[in-house]
Amino acid sequence: MTFEIAERWFERKRIDDDITLIWEPHVDPLGRCNIWHVRGSETDLLVDTGMGVAELKPAIEDLFGHGVIAFATHTHFDHVGSLHEFENRIVGVHEAPIMEEADNRFSLYREDMDPDVVKCIEDSGYQISECLIDALPCAGYDARAYKVEPAKPTRVVDEGDEISIGNRRFEVMHLPGHSPGSIGLWEADTGTLFSGDAAYDGPLLDMLPESDIADYCRTMERLMELPVTVVHAGHDPSFGRERLVAMCRDYLEKRASH
Ligand SMILES: [Zn+2]
Repeated sequence: MTFEIAERWFERKRIDDDITLIWEPHVDPLGRCNIWHVRGSETDLLVDTGMGVAELKPAIEDLFGHGVIAFATHTHFDHVGSLHEFENRIVGVHEAPIMEEADNRFSLYREDMDPDVVKCIEDSGYQISECLIDALPCAGYDARAYKVEPAKPTRVVDEGDEISIGNRRFEVMHLPGHSPGSIGLWEADTGTLFSGDAAYDGPLLDMLPESDIADYCRTMERLMELPVTVVHAGHDPSFGRERLVAMCRDYLEKRASH
């Protein structure tokens, strides 16, 4: 396979006065994570950091007002690839040890992935392409050598902890199911939820080796009750309460008897 060199690795879109969405257009939808920049009065917050195929920080630092805290919703490769680039790194308590080692089960090449994991992802509704990128970030990039760099958290958080960025305050929600330590950020003042991979408007993955369907059902029951205005998810477009409730309901209908 020969790849062209991408003109730009990251794209961005301003969502409102404070929030910018950043994504990697040359990454397969399976690994194309939403990276959320939230501007705060004292510090900025970055929810997830993408694949780590290209350096994220230099590409987006023009957005940062007064420093930035990088937050990981969970430790899957597509969410924490560039976490190590940031000085301040928040990881959930249940997956902090994984981040210190870095989870490198995934290759960019389908043929090098665990066939059972490929099957479970494809059964869930994704079609994984031969390679998870369709362009190179720079000349000479070795896609075969892709790996996630370990990143020791500088702060470890759990359910109920508060993350303040000055004028905005978020509460950590433990949302297990997709992965055991998945966490979200809930801002009660605005009804904003950063949900990571606990809820997004695409094929949900609950059959990965580390997933747990019973936990996922409890997470969905909890999310259904949350008075959200908007959900900024780990993948796919943002959505409102109605869609969240329908998503949770569909999931529970499918899995509650499991
Ligand atoms: Zn994930």
